[in-house]
Amino acid sequence: MIELDDRTKAIRLRAREWARELKPLALELDGDPDAIYRHLDVGIVSYLTRMPLPPEYNPDPVVIDGHRFYGTGTLERVVFAEEVAVGDAGMLLAAPGPVMSGVLIDSLGDERQKKWFYSRILERPTWTFFALTEPARGSDAGAMETTLTPADDGDGYVLNGAKRYIGNAARADIGVVFARTRPGPLGVTAVLTEASAPGFTAEPLETIGLRGLRITAMTLDNVRIAADNVLGRHLRPTQRGMWSAVQGLNRLRPGVAAFGLGIARSAYEYVRENRPGLPAWDRERLDDLGRRITGVRQLIWRAARAVDENDPAAGYLASAAKAKASRLAEDATMEALGFFGPGARLEHPLLDKLARDARAVEFMEGTGNIQKLNLFTGLLQGRLRRA
Ligand SMILES: Cc1cc2nc3c(=O)[nH]c(=O)nc-3n(C[C@H](O)[C@H](O)[C@H](O)COP(=O)(O)OP(=O)(O)OC[C@H]3O[C@@H](n4cnc5c(N)ncnc54)[C@H](O)[C@@H]3O)c2cc1C
Repeated sequence: MIELDDRTKAIRLRAREWARELKPLALELDGDPDAIYRHLDVGIVSYLTRMPLPPEYNPDPVVIDGHRFYGTGTLERVVFAEEVAVGDAGMLLAAPGPVMSGVLIDSLGDERQKKWFYSRILERPTWTFFALTEPARGSDAGAMETTLTPADDGDGYVLNGAKRYIGNAARADIGVVFARTRPGPLGVTAVLTEASAPGFTAEPLETIGLRGLRITAMTLDNVRIAADNVLGRHLRPTQRGMWSAVQGLNRLRPGVAAFGLGIARSAYEYVRENRPGLPAWDRERLDDLGRRITGVRQLIWRAARAVDENDPAAGYLASAAKAKASRLAEDATMEALGFFGPGARLEHPLLDKLARDARAVEFMEGTGNIQKLNLFTGLLQGRLRRA
């Protein structure tokens, strides 16, 4: 069993308080994803605008019980994300901030790129995007078709292609786009991109789950990229491109698992609050769900700690955690609806929303099938012990 230290307990308690503010706003954001613009002053949203931001770039971190928080530790992030997702995973994902591209820039950016990116984040609430998936290249993102080619006039590069399902891209100013410079896994590169660049367009897609995130279809038509904005140029070719995407996603995946866990817990708590006096059989079913939630939490914490400790098995544990948590979220929300009878989706709109959000979590950062493929590759190759 992993026990939390005092520092992580402090962020957990604060996140729990912040999450209470979100519950009443959850259905509003679900109905109108632009509601986020009306709630930028909500405690949790303003905290997220600077998370994660490494200490050397964040002179003014959030201080809780004397502890400074930069959002850079994975265990602290998953503990935080679970609590906030109990309030509303949609709001957590809709908030401006460095999020996924911040993690990538932390590992791939040179000094100038980090300064540029983080100063934009500190200037004002700024949405960012992380554009990897393409319309025909989701699970096999390594086969992407978007290209980065030298510009005809010799001044930098041009991006051409299309990306799809990109969180927050329609409201973002800056972000990272993955593109191909040549065939093969070493031919993938990540570039810093501004949404205001000519040739960049982003159209929100109609969605039913996690609607606050505003997933987007992006078109890149000869978008000019300065040579200085190519990430990882100071690193070996094997440490850029797809390798960096995989490393970044491994670091983030326990957090996505925590969204699933928070959604499952929200559904579980909803039943506890709204169906008192359940018959013994139903009470036992609900208690079972509670035990599953506790078990998956431990798995997520273990994966998060492995990421923080640079354990080579971290990516596999993160896949196990994500697959288990998204399955749990779907099971818990469907089971919770079952406690309220056939009209539940209409009569309990919050539960209906939680079930839709759980479905979306299944696809974020790789579906359950892809996580299982990764996990079993690790097991078969002996890189992960069966514990
Ligand atoms: C809410 C949300 C937010 C997202 N945010 C982002 C973002 O910010 N940036 C970004 O780049 N992308 C983002 N995505 C995209 C996400 O990463 C993809 O949806 C995901 O990788 C799956 O790709 P796909 O939708 O093309 O499905 P497909 O790859 O077409 O998969 C369809 C089905 O086939 C199965 N399948 C595919 N390949 C295999 C295989 N080899 N073996 C077994 N089964 C297989 C899958 O499990 C799935 O069930 C987001 C998606 C969602 C829903």
